[in-house]
Amino acid sequence: MQVFDVVIVGGGMVGATLGLALARQGRRIAVIEAREPTPFDPAADYDLRVSAISRASQRIFEHLGAWPGMLARRASPYAHMHVWDATGNGEIHFDCAELGEPNLGHIIENRVIQDALLERLRAEDNVSWLCPASLAALAVEADGARLTMEDGCELRAPLVVGADGARSRVRELAGIDVARQAYGQRGVVATVATERPHAATAWQRFLPTGPLAFLPLADGRCSIVWSADDARAEALMAMDDARFARELGVAFGHRLGEIVSVSPRAAFPLAGSQAAAYVRPRIALVGDAAHTIHPLAGQGANLGFLDAATLADVLAGVPGDGRGDLGHHALLRRYERTRRGDNVLSMRAMEGFKLLFGNDLAPLAWLRNTGLALTNRAGPVKHELIRRAMGLSGERPSLAR
Ligand SMILES: Cc1cc2nc3c(=O)[nH]c(=O)nc-3n(C[C@H](O)[C@H](O)[C@H](O)COP(=O)(O)OP(=O)(O)OC[C@H]3O[C@@H](n4cnc5c(N)ncnc54)[C@H](O)[C@@H]3O)c2cc1C
Repeated sequence: MQVFDVVIVGGGMVGATLGLALARQGRRIAVIEAREPTPFDPAADYDLRVSAISRASQRIFEHLGAWPGMLARRASPYAHMHVWDATGNGEIHFDCAELGEPNLGHIIENRVIQDALLERLRAEDNVSWLCPASLAALAVEADGARLTMEDGCELRAPLVVGADGARSRVRELAGIDVARQAYGQRGVVATVATERPHAATAWQRFLPTGPLAFLPLADGRCSIVWSADDARAEALMAMDDARFARELGVAFGHRLGEIVSVSPRAAFPLAGSQAAAYVRPRIALVGDAAHTIHPLAGQGANLGFLDAATLADVLAGVPGDGRGDLGHHALLRRYERTRRGDNVLSMRAMEGFKLLFGNDLAPLAWLRNTGLALTNRAGPVKHELIRRAMGLSGERPSLAR
């Protein structure tokens, strides 16, 4: 049986971030990943899964030495954000120059983020990368947790972290319930070329049927996320490219002219969820294993990176060499208390936006249009909004500062 300080189940974006942060503290880490990740290939087309990476997440990656690897692979900075309502004339525009910042964030393929993190992770002597390997059983004992892999191999550690995504096996084996609300929507994603340049702007149009985002890519195209009710999303997936391009252009109000080309599409069911607990004795959940939110503000992965950085902060104070207990419940509760409020608030805010914008009722249409227009004119409110979205204000873990 192999013994570690921390076993992380799931080597996706959040698990890899946590693994690297803990390895830098000198802990002996095992990261168990079920699927062999697809390495980044610069000749390959953009991955359909991209994330709008906040400044707080960028800082975390900088501290961990993974940021240069992301920039070297492929990353698209954006300088503006433009949000408007399809049913009125309310709109809001954010400009990085108003904040004295070089950009508002970066659009980066999930594959690039994971690849750059794993490159650094594998370079650490004290990390065992176990892949492909899947967790089959988990036993929590007084002095440690025992994990059994599907191939029968056993590992032991005082702390097991579930970074294994929305269908977390760790969460299930630990008997932690999850409150899940399916939104009855899917996020249709594709890479598209537009007639007019995207102007390094992240565009978001609120339609009564759901938000439509155009995220600018460095090659001049846009990565789109079109949130639509299940039936509409199914219809969008079934269309041929020419019809899809036409419908997309109309839904986007032809803001960037005609849609010139579209890549193959994919659709993801959208749901908000919160685990009943983020921690149990010897167990902690991070990222999508602990919570998921609507992608309309592009915050899901960013919240997960803050989970990882906060848990790393909490564990940093524990002496090594078996002199402290990394899986002590009271210690792990500190992580939960710090992150849960922020994550629940983000989920509620996204649900509020979805309700406010996904509604044809005249008073709500008036409210959102007036709200957008007023906020656009109210400098300090607007600045605070964008600084929060960038992760530049509020309480932050040390890696995000
Ligand atoms: C359409 C869409 C757009 C989005 N856009 C954004 C955005 O712009 N910005 C943003 O911040 N977020 C965005 N998100 C959310 C973001 O994609 C997720 O929050 C993020 O991928 C979660 O990362 P994770 O590492 O927690 O989980 P995952 O990415 O799900 O990784 C989990 C890992 O665990 C592994 N695993 C699972 N089970 C096991 C097991 N039993 N044993 C071993 N390994 C296992 C999996 O193979 C996987 O590698 C978006 C989501 C959607 C659906």
